[in-house]
Amino acid sequence: MPAPAVAMNPPSATRSDPASAHVTPALVERLRAVCGPGHVYTDADQLRTYESDGLLQYKVTPGVVVLPASTAEVRAVVRACWAAGVPWVARGAGSGLSGGALPVEQGVLIALTRMRAVLEVDLPNQRIVVQPGVTNAEVSLAVGPSHFYPPDPSSQIVCSIGGNVAENSGGAHCFKYGFTTNYVTGLEIVLSDGEVVTLGGKELDHPGYDLLGTFVGSEGTLGICTAVTLRVIPVPEMVRTMVAFFDTTSQAGEAVSEIVSGGVIPGAIEMMDNLTIQAAEKAVGAGFPTDVGAALIVELDGSKVECETLLDDVVAICERNGSLSIRIAQDDADRAAIWKTRKAAFAAMGRIAPNYYVQDGVIPRTMLPEVLARIAQLGDEYGMRVANVFHAGDGNLHPLVLYDGEAQAERAEELAGRIVEACVDAGGSITGEHGVGVDKKRYMPRMFDEPDLAAFQMLRCAFDPRGLANPGKLMPTPRLCGEVPGPYRRHPLERDGVAERF
Ligand SMILES: Cc1cc2nc3c(=O)[nH]c(=O)nc-3n(C[C@H](O)[C@H](O)[C@H](O)COP(=O)(O)OP(=O)(O)OC[C@H]3O[C@@H](n4cnc5c(N)ncnc54)[C@H](O)[C@@H]3O)c2cc1C
Repeated sequence: MPAPAVAMNPPSATRSDPASAHVTPALVERLRAVCGPGHVYTDADQLRTYESDGLLQYKVTPGVVVLPASTAEVRAVVRACWAAGVPWVARGAGSGLSGGALPVEQGVLIALTRMRAVLEVDLPNQRIVVQPGVTNAEVSLAVGPSHFYPPDPSSQIVCSIGGNVAENSGGAHCFKYGFTTNYVTGLEIVLSDGEVVTLGGKELDHPGYDLLGTFVGSEGTLGICTAVTLRVIPVPEMVRTMVAFFDTTSQAGEAVSEIVSGGVIPGAIEMMDNLTIQAAEKAVGAGFPTDVGAALIVELDGSKVECETLLDDVVAICERNGSLSIRIAQDDADRAAIWKTRKAAFAAMGRIAPNYYVQDGVIPRTMLPEVLARIAQLGDEYGMRVANVFHAGDGNLHPLVLYDGEAQAERAEELAGRIVEACVDAGGSITGEHGVGVDKKRYMPRMFDEPDLAAFQMLRCAFDPRGLANPGKLMPTPRLCGEVPGPYRRHPLERDGVAERF
C-alpha cells in the first residue's frame, strides 16, 4: 500500500534543527559583503519578483534574494547559510512549472542569473562549458552554426542550463536525441556546507557510482551547480519539417504509432489538439486550420537522401491514417513559423482562457488514445476545458486545464491531479520533464513505497546532511537525516502540528 504523504510547513527540519533559523540582519550584511550591496535584495517589491516560478499557483516570499556572480561567491553565500542554519533555494530563470524554485519563507533565494559566461567552446571534442545562468538557446548559439545542443525545452529562450540540469529537462527533439542527462558530462557543484566538488569532466564515462546522473534531475536538493560541461553535436545535413492535420487526436496517434513502429526516428514528433491549435493560431497566425481535431508536427533530420526518403514515407503514413491536409515547410521561415506555433502553445492559452494549470505526465506511447479519452472524460466531469499539447513520440503529455478566476483554481488543480493519476494508472509517471517540485511531491507515494523513499532520503542526506538545500521539495516525507527508516513512526513535527499526513 502506498505510504501517506506529509505536507510540510516550510522550512523543513534537520537533525541540528535549524527549522526556526531564518534570515537575520547579520546574515544579510554577510551576503552584502560577499556579493556587493547592489546584488542583495530585501525590499518587499524586489522580493515579490521571486515569490513564484512558472507555476503561479504557489507563492512564498523569501527573506532575502542574493545574486552571486562566481563560484567563489556562491560558495561564500552557501557557507554563510550553513553557519546560520538558514535554508536556501537555487533559482535559474524561474520558468519551472512544478514550484521547484519556490522560495522558503524567511529563507535565502540564490538567483544564478548573473552567472552567464560561456567558459569554453571545444568543438573538436564536441563540448562546451558554461556557467549555470546561460540560457538553453545561448548554448546552441555559442556552438553554431556547425553544432547544436539538442535538448530544447519550449522555454529555451529564457530557461537556464542550471535549471535544465536540475530538472533533467526535455523538449521536442528529445525523442531522437535524448534528455539533458544524455548531454551533461561534467559538473562543478557547491554542496550545502560550501565544499566545491567536481563530478565527471569532458569524457563520457567515469568509474564509480554515477553521481553525475544522480545530480541531474535532483531539483536543487543536492547542491548548486556552478559550471556545466555539455556534449554538443554536429548540425545534420538536412532538416525537413511538416505538419499533418487530422479530424481526431486518435487518428494522429495511430499515425505516430505507425511512423515509430516502422522504424522511422523523427528528430521531433509533436501533437496539438483543437483547443491548442486555436490558441496558438490566435497568438502566432501561422495559418494552421482551426477547425481540425489535431496537428501532428514531424521533423526529420539527417543526410539529404535519408530525409527525402523518410519524408515520403511519413506523408504516406499520415495519408493512410486519414490526414485532411499536409503542409511541408518550404523554407526556414516556414519551418520557424510551424515551430513558433508549437512552442507558443502554453503562453497562447491566455488567448482562450483567463487562467490555466499546466500538467505534465508521461505514459507508454501506445496508451495515448486511452489516456486522451480519459482526460476528455475528466474534463466533462469537472465541466472544464482541457487543451492538450504533447511530445507524442515520448508519450509526454501536457494537459492544460483552463479555468476562470480564483474560484475555479482549486477545482482545476484537483482535475490536474486526477489526470496525473490517470497517467500512473496507465503505467506512466507523475512527471515527464517538469519535475516534482512542490506541486507533485504528494504523488510520489503513488510511484514509490516507503523503503524506496527512505533510500532517496539517505542519498539526499549524503549530499546535504542538514537539509538546507531546497527543503520541502521533491520528497513527500520530511524524514530527518539519521532517522531510522522502516515502519512509520509519528514524526516529531507531526506531533507539534507543524506537518500533517494526508
Ligand atoms: C512556456 C514554458 C514552456 C516550457 N517547456 C518545457 C519543455 O518543453 N520541456 C521542459 O523540460 N520544460 C519546459 N518548461 C519548464 C522549465 O522551463 C524547465 O523546467 C527549465 O529547465 C527550468 O529552468 P529555469 O532556469 O527556469 O529553472 P528554475 O525554474 O529557476 O528552477 C528549476 C529548478 O532548478 C533548480 N535550480 C536552478 N538553477 C540551479 C542550479 N544552478 N543548481 C542547482 N539547482 C538549480 C531550482 O532550485 C528548481 O528546483 C517550460 C516552461 C514554460 C514556462
